[in-house]
Amino acid sequence: MNISDSKIIDFVSLKEGGIMNKNIKLIGVCTLLILTNVLAAIFVPPINASKNQNELSESENYQENHQEIKNIIFMVPDGMGLADVTAARIYKNGPGGAPLYFETLENIGYQRTYSANSIITDSAAAGSAWACGEKFNNGEICYHVDGRPYNPSILELAKAEGKATGLVATSTITHATPAVFGAHVKDRNCENEIARQYIEITGVDVMLGSGVAKFNSTKPDKCGTSGNFISEAEQKGYPVVYTRAGMDSAVANGTVKLLGLFNDSGMTPEYIRVPGTTEPRLPEMTTDALKILEKGRDGFFIMIEGSQVDWANHANDLKYQIGETMAFDESVKVVLDWINANPERKAHTLLIVVPDHETGGFAINGPDKLLNASEFVDAGWTSLDHTGVDTIIWSQGPGSFALGRAVDNTDLYGVMAKAIKQ
Ligand SMILES: [Zn+2]
Repeated sequence: MNISDSKIIDFVSLKEGGIMNKNIKLIGVCTLLILTNVLAAIFVPPINASKNQNELSESENYQENHQEIKNIIFMVPDGMGLADVTAARIYKNGPGGAPLYFETLENIGYQRTYSANSIITDSAAAGSAWACGEKFNNGEICYHVDGRPYNPSILELAKAEGKATGLVATSTITHATPAVFGAHVKDRNCENEIARQYIEITGVDVMLGSGVAKFNSTKPDKCGTSGNFISEAEQKGYPVVYTRAGMDSAVANGTVKLLGLFNDSGMTPEYIRVPGTTEPRLPEMTTDALKILEKGRDGFFIMIEGSQVDWANHANDLKYQIGETMAFDESVKVVLDWINANPERKAHTLLIVVPDHETGGFAINGPDKLLNASEFVDAGWTSLDHTGVDTIIWSQGPGSFALGRAVDNTDLYGVMAKAIKQ
């Protein structure tokens, strides 16, 4: 896997608050095997710049927004549009009730979502835009099928800077959205190969989700990969757990690495969960992942995905959708409680909540009267697939001011890369 000797990446410029891209050269002939050298050669420009001094000095959060960033927590409610937020909030708190937790974040902006080859992105291309900083074709996982070089991912940059790293999802942990941060493959369906790269190449410290079969398959995937990556993970020092109790006990034992695989395919949706299930919920995985990663001396990067908001919208199913949105929001509460428990964390943690795309063209069509909490809006969808609308970005913490405006999804890479390299 070669990284280019002369690679252009785009960063958002904050000048005049619009989307202005600036080409920056990455210098150095190298491969992922000498990733550290590549990273040392990356020149990341100051994104705040004195250009915005007047505007920002008016903000009471100016100081807070310019602290050094130690931790990045990147949270993805896959396929969630703004109407999903409204529907979940009405169901939880009523039309005039309290906001959802992620709605309380300081900065709100929105991002374009188109991919390199379509107005309608998939999760692979959308995630790759964040993770690797440029547009990719649908289906590509931070990898150009035409052979062009690509950037190391944000997670790889964090790892090279000595940070701990984590991926949490309610889909297979080898699904497209987590995969873009920890692997480079031509096709999102190469889930065995993605599992192999997590364990053999990237060495992600904490992986919690589902997908036992992807880590232990005798049948080659689309990339021709099969193998027992569970025993390989164990040899590399990962406790491998299959239940919530196993996860909690590994954390209690002080592990600094963890592979949790709680189902073969996607994890059980919230709205059909029964008491006594052995699968952890997203907020529980979030809690335990933070307990492990916070031990990282130089901070951490974690991506946490509520994977099934997307699946609920593909199914045009409102109960499913609201259940997943609310569970995702509970995970945001876990994160906010963790941040607020310590002023150091608050000063040095960048939190970003952003859906990769909207799914279903979900709309609220009624009723023509007010509802109470625990009541459902009249739902309508225009599609069984993804749509091409922009999606909201909620963010807080140092550097987040750059996201309180209209940006492109590739611009999030520049914001996070700067945070890691500062
Ligand atoms: Zn989808």
